[in-house]
Amino acid sequence: MTVRPHTPEWPGRARLRRGEVWLVGAGPGDPGLMTLHGLAAIEEADVVVHDALVDARILGWTRPGAALEDMGKRGGRCSPKQPAITRRLIAHARAGRRVVRLKGGDPFVFGRGGEEAEALASAGIPFRIVPGVTAGIGGLAYAGIPATHRDVNQAVTFVTGHDQSGRLPAALDWEALAKGSPVIVLYMAVRTLPAIAEALMAAGRAGSEPVAVVMNATRPDQRVLETTLSRVAADLAQSRLKAPSVICIGEVVSHRRLLDWAGGMEGATPLADAAV
Ligand code: SAH
Repeated sequence: MTVRPHTPEWPGRARLRRGEVWLVGAGPGDPGLMTLHGLAAIEEADVVVHDALVDARILGWTRPGAALEDMGKRGGRCSPKQPAITRRLIAHARAGRRVVRLKGGDPFVFGRGGEEAEALASAGIPFRIVPGVTAGIGGLAYAGIPATHRDVNQAVTFVTGHDQSGRLPAALDWEALAKGSPVIVLYMAVRTLPAIAEALMAAGRAGSEPVAVVMNATRPDQRVLETTLSRVAADLAQSRLKAPSVICIGEVVSHRRLLDWAGGMEGATPLADAAV
């Protein structure tokens, strides 16, 4: 059964028009984290071009007859290349369709939304950005981890765990990060986390510093592994946690002791088992 939410009206509410593309952030999973702009656009869209990370419950909000185009990896096949995606968006818009480009989390955080919007701008296609809740803030919040806490950090850094070649980004200065950023939030870093932990400890961060790996954040199958910089490689290998996972390094992780509102998920037990 499809449950359709009711989009409220408000003065000044923008409408998705024919020939426009809205880049919409779907948030990390929980459909309740979608914005009202995003929901309204999905309900009005003729076509929704989406990533694999977008929750199926959100896709169910499209109106009957709207086309869904999956641009994520499916059945082992490679995902379409970025130029093919932008070509599709431009073609849909030029055909006079109302187009939603739906991306996991926030479209402008490690989501290539900047590149897609630039391609639309160059092609003269009117577009709008609808921000979303990013995994590195909202996903951590569902594990009881505040990205900042006045007692802990005056800065937080968002880092991608791999570059275009799939390796640890060469441009990153781990010594500077270790010194300058008390809290480091990693995206796309499950595979490179052991190397990152090594680099941070070599640059002076304590092996006892807390680390949390949050898999499937905000979804019913959310799992959390809480460990330390020196133990993370071994614990991660044992836990079999995989992507999508968001990782937090820093003392804010220890605040989950009081803040873990979503259930006792210590040691990567499934939320469904732990929550009432
Ligand atoms: N634009 C997205 C990030 C896309 S990059 C955002 O703002 O959240 C993909 C990475 O995001 C994943 O490898 C993972 O690190 C993180 N991520 C996205 N959704 C997640 C989720 N539900 N749980 C944990 N990590 C997630």
